[in-house]
Amino acid sequence: MPFYDFYCEDCHLEFAIRATIQQKEAGLRLECPQCRGQSVRQVITAGILLRGQSRSTDAPTCCGPKAKPGCCS
Ligand SMILES: [Zn+2]
Repeated sequence: MPFYDFYCEDCHLEFAIRATIQQKEAGLRLECPQCRGQSVRQVITAGILLRGQSRSTDAPTCCGPKAKPGCCS
């Protein structure tokens, strides 16, 4: 289950929401957890693009666009 990063334009809080793709497509109820504002936009971080993202957060740093063969398998 991926994390989605969001940024609140009202209080400038960055936060992550964990949701399934289905939940996201169905329309997540986006609300800032700090100020309850709804001026929230999604932040596309490099982490989302990394293949190792669905694994543990302390995956080897060699995992990524230039992953070495066998490193992330
Ligand atoms: Zn906020």
